[in-house]
Amino acid sequence: MFTKLRGKIKSVINNLIDGSNSGNKLLELSEERYKTLIDNSKDIIYSCDKNGLFTAVNKQFLYLIKIHYYDIIGKKLSNLICKKDYYIKWEEAIQKVIKTEQMIDMEFKVDENAIYNVTISPVFDNKNNVVGITGTNYDITEIRKSESIIKHMAYYDNLTGLHNRAYFFDRLNKHIQISKEKSKKLVVIFIDIDDFKRINDSLGHTVGDELLKLVAKRLQLSIRKGDTIARISGDEFSIVINKIKNVNESIHIIEDILKVFEVPFNVQNSLINITISIGASVFPDDGKSAEELLRNSDIAMYKVKESGKNFYRYFDINMKNELLRKMKIETMLVNAVENEEFILHYQPQYDVRSKKICGLEALIRWNSSELGFLNPMEFIAISEEIGIISKIGEWVLNRACNFAKKINNEFGTNIVIAVNISPIQLRQGDFYNIVTKIIDKIGISPCNVELEITENICIDDFDYAINILKSLKKYGVRIALDDFGTGYSSLSYLKKLPIDMLKIDKSFVDEISIDGSQNDLTETIISLAHKLGMKALAEGVEDQFQYDYLEKSGIDIIQGYLLGKPMTESAIEKELSL
Ligand code: C2E
Ligand code: CA
Ligand code: CA
Repeated sequence: MFTKLRGKIKSVINNLIDGSNSGNKLLELSEERYKTLIDNSKDIIYSCDKNGLFTAVNKQFLYLIKIHYYDIIGKKLSNLICKKDYYIKWEEAIQKVIKTEQMIDMEFKVDENAIYNVTISPVFDNKNNVVGITGTNYDITEIRKSESIIKHMAYYDNLTGLHNRAYFFDRLNKHIQISKEKSKKLVVIFIDIDDFKRINDSLGHTVGDELLKLVAKRLQLSIRKGDTIARISGDEFSIVINKIKNVNESIHIIEDILKVFEVPFNVQNSLINITISIGASVFPDDGKSAEELLRNSDIAMYKVKESGKNFYRYFDINMKNELLRKMKIETMLVNAVENEEFILHYQPQYDVRSKKICGLEALIRWNSSELGFLNPMEFIAISEEIGIISKIGEWVLNRACNFAKKINNEFGTNIVIAVNISPIQLRQGDFYNIVTKIIDKIGISPCNVELEITENICIDDFDYAINILKSLKKYGVRIALDDFGTGYSSLSYLKKLPIDMLKIDKSFVDEISIDGSQNDLTETIISLAHKLGMKALAEGVEDQFQYDYLEKSGIDIIQGYLLGKPMTESAIEKELSL
């Protein structure tokens, strides 16, 4: 019985011993797993005792410090690293946590390639006394790098490396603030490359991009230190000229910028000549906010474009009013056809020999309900720009042909109706079909319809224009060359174009004077027309002297205030019934 009991006790003890053994093993295993986890962490993990001496570090720590494990344990960070100032902030943080018993979370930068988020927490024993710290350094270098790339993208233009629009506004606002405080002036310059679209279209976008980069470089070199330059969009750049006492100071800078473009650009071994248009606005005179200043310098730039490009202009308030008016006209024009706001006036053309009306030129009139009577030159140009000239042109042709057919029927006349055709109309849609359809539908004879074209109809695509005109001529309509002598006329154009009549521009007629100095020119044009088998018409004849001279010189047809101003349909009918 005793032995039995002894045996049982022994087995219990053994079990106990075994049990404690397996308990230790479990603990060891768990510590091992824990260590592996910590060692495999990409973060730097460490613990220190109360005095800041290392008690444990993970592999990542060793990798960073490049010192053997056993040479670290029992040392302070400051003992380990010779470039002490590199790590001084880290060491200080460890000491601070031990002292204050508070956790610290901070960012610290060793260099551009090593930026850490450092978290250090105090470790307490079961009596709540600090016995040391544990720390984790988390590498945030990549995060910071991508943040700075994003920031760069937000502030800089990718293509040229100049600042972008957003940053430009930011800076401009700051400059405005400073100028306000110091009572200084500031100039905002708006630069646009002339005909950049044409370069892009003809030479390709790669060349266009290269050119923009070179332009950016040149512009950057031409500004003063402290001035801001940015690419606003596409081929538009803007510069802020700071702290100037008077506007004259900025004129020199602008003129220098223009000069910089006198030298051609070398893009992929070919030389490209470009010019720029510059608009400028002045703070505080032309605007108080960044938006207003940029907008007004843009308006001034636009004015330069209108008056021939390759120059600069400073904003003035009239420019803005003009632009507002233009925008108003644009919106009103869009609905003018539907709203039946246009009418046609007709100016008689007299056959010099028969002394009878042989033709009528249809001239459009727009009496806008809001803007009143508008000059056709003004709104025709705008409708060309916004692309509704074809629609208006169709309306004109339709109305004019209807009227011509009506009066020829009524009065038994053989009057030719002359209709002005914009160069844009010829390029838009199927011009041949549009014209022939209208004429066929109305049932007027094509030879009673004359299309007045100008020489610049051929500038863009001579062959295209000439083919359409030839087909129309074959169909039977007549072609007149308007404003002759003011455009690109060359004899070779004249020979190739299927023209029935030359309309000698008013400016030549104006020169006909009693002293006779310029008269030769008109005579020459008339005989040239005749030699080429065309008729000659003189426009804008206002006095009897001009009339007599032209008649003597062999002119065929005369049009002008002397014989009749443009008039309404009923006035023409009255005239014909006399
Ligand atoms: P244009 O085709 O050269 O038309 C002649 C212009 O000279 C007309 O001005 C006419 O009224 C004016 N005029 C005629 N005789 C005399 C004169 O003896 N003295 C003076 N001082 N002026 C004279 P308007 O009607 O203001 O037209 C101006 C321009 O607008 C036209 O010049 C033409 O280019 C354009 N236009 C007019 N109607 C149309 C149209 O229906 N379609 C297109 N595309 N353009 C049009
Ligand atoms: Ca005309
Ligand atoms: Ca004319």
